[in-house]
Amino acid sequence: MRQVLFFAFVAAVVAIYPVHAEIQWHTPAAIAPPTGYNSIPEINLPDYVAEAIDFAPEEGKPLIAIVIDDMGVDRRRTQEALEAFPSEVTLAYLPYASDIAEQVQAARAAGHEIMVHMPMQPQRDTIDPGPNVLHGDLDEAELRRRIDVNLAAFDGYAGLNNHMGSKFTQDARGIDILMREVRKRGLYFLDSRTISNSVAEQTAAAYGVPVTHRDVFLDDKETEAFTRDALLKVERTARRKGSAVAIGHPKDITTRMLAAWIPTLEEKGFQLAPMSAVLKHRRKVSSPRVAAARVIGICEVH
Ligand SMILES: [Zn+2]
Repeated sequence: MRQVLFFAFVAAVVAIYPVHAEIQWHTPAAIAPPTGYNSIPEINLPDYVAEAIDFAPEEGKPLIAIVIDDMGVDRRRTQEALEAFPSEVTLAYLPYASDIAEQVQAARAAGHEIMVHMPMQPQRDTIDPGPNVLHGDLDEAELRRRIDVNLAAFDGYAGLNNHMGSKFTQDARGIDILMREVRKRGLYFLDSRTISNSVAEQTAAAYGVPVTHRDVFLDDKETEAFTRDALLKVERTARRKGSAVAIGHPKDITTRMLAAWIPTLEEKGFQLAPMSAVLKHRRKVSSPRVAAARVIGICEVH
């Protein structure tokens, strides 16, 4: 009997092991200074404060940043989001959207902090990330050209986050080129974490770029149950870590549920904050290098 049990145990371990190995999380390796680091001129970081909106954190209140990205392409839903949310909600615009400079100008006039939602290569080739996507197969000159084009589409932004990018954010060479540009321009970076082993956060941190990662996606599934659970997770994360970063999209259900949830935050003891305020808060409490957390695996379409 004992032998049978032993073999059953061994068989179970063998059966489970490959699955377990698949879902192991990648621990960021020790960070070596990125190539080219010494050639970067010193600048006084964080210059990004120049385009951050004014914000006064209240002592002891956990901060919650809501970033709505994919803004600008679906004009009706973009407009609805703009009208539904208070100015503390941060808006990330796709650089290839039509009339993008005017759209962003209207959002700035309404008091929102603005980000560039930078298109980056997803894992699956069947998904279209849009024009001028940052792609790992491009040479440095073309990558720089695309970074320039995307960052020149409009002005008045404080930082950027990745649109898609489950492939590109794993590409150490490509991310290194991007982060040198981000640092030179005095911007911050929010890693949307569309894949768990993105190197964007550690590379940005090594360059001294203000950086953090998304904690919660609000609308992977367009159901009330999903978004309700996600909003509860935002509250739990903020209580535990002192701050939370959630990313949502201009979808009908997200706009409706967020518009109802945001006014409840004050009585729950939270403070809604622009992205830059959470970055400043996180830089105070811990190094962004060690702030990387376990987040959901691949989310291709963000
Ligand atoms: Zn996106």
